[in-house]
Amino acid sequence: MNFHPLNRGRRLLRAGAAAALALGLFTAAVARAELNVVATMPDLGALAEAVGAGKVKVTSLARPTEDAHFVTAKPSFIRVLNRADVLIEGGAELEVGWLPPLVEGARNREIIPGGSRRVDASKGLQLLDVPTGPVDRSQGHVHAAGNAHYLLDPVRAGESAGNITEAFARLDPANAAAYRAALESFRAELAKKLPAWEARLKPFAGAKVVTYHKSFDYLLDRFGLEFVGTIEPKPGVEPSPTHINALVPQLREQGVRLILIEEHRPTKTPQYVAEKAGAKLIVLPHFPGSHRASETYLEWMDHLVIELADALKQP
Ligand SMILES: [Zn+2]
Repeated sequence: MNFHPLNRGRRLLRAGAAAALALGLFTAAVARAELNVVATMPDLGALAEAVGAGKVKVTSLARPTEDAHFVTAKPSFIRVLNRADVLIEGGAELEVGWLPPLVEGARNREIIPGGSRRVDASKGLQLLDVPTGPVDRSQGHVHAAGNAHYLLDPVRAGESAGNITEAFARLDPANAAAYRAALESFRAELAKKLPAWEARLKPFAGAKVVTYHKSFDYLLDRFGLEFVGTIEPKPGVEPSPTHINALVPQLREQGVRLILIEEHRPTKTPQYVAEKAGAKLIVLPHFPGSHRASETYLEWMDHLVIELADALKQP
């Protein structure tokens, strides 16, 4: 065998070229099968995974513990958006406070509003709190186009997953049948789970609940719990001490059982309100993925239902 360094170098070069060629072919094959999907929120990302049939790569921009309206923009988001084949947004102005400059910076024409690779997951869905008159956004109102936290309702999540599936099928027609089959199986699982979730919360029907922000309305509405009001005077607006002091006796009088907050909220004010009003404070994950990285949409919904039922079970 010839161990002359030059020959060895040539052999390595040939091996390297062969490997690079193989890798190139492999990458091309994967690239044909894959959509590089960017979801603004972890719940949208979880739906994209559910209907992606293993053929999509999903990146969610917001962390599971972040406020959907006030996501911290990282410079890396621009790179991620630049390479996106699909951008899924929650819509109803959910991301209006932070997404537009990132999309502008990403220089990816197809994911700009109205672009062929931009998906509004709320399309066709009936939203709660859609204003009938003008809304004064200057005071920080963040639900001016309706309540965008609709994925807290598993039925609407099934509809929204349909929007995502149709976009995948259109942009990657070779795998359209696989995406549609994944949607069918996701919807079948949802349909199987729904009666169990309803049964678990049925004993507490009509229980009065207050939330910090209007984050959990869809969940409460779906499962027959009564949403009484919020600690925030308006969506996205911090409560003043005067507001809190006026709120507490109302909650006590109405017999509010639970106060729900998302993980990113400071607990001090809600804890104070809960104690004074004789209610119980619980912190719920408002997105999948905050407990275990692999948490699916269905696991997340399971978790929410169990937490609510457990909290209501206690006197
Ligand atoms: Zn909101």
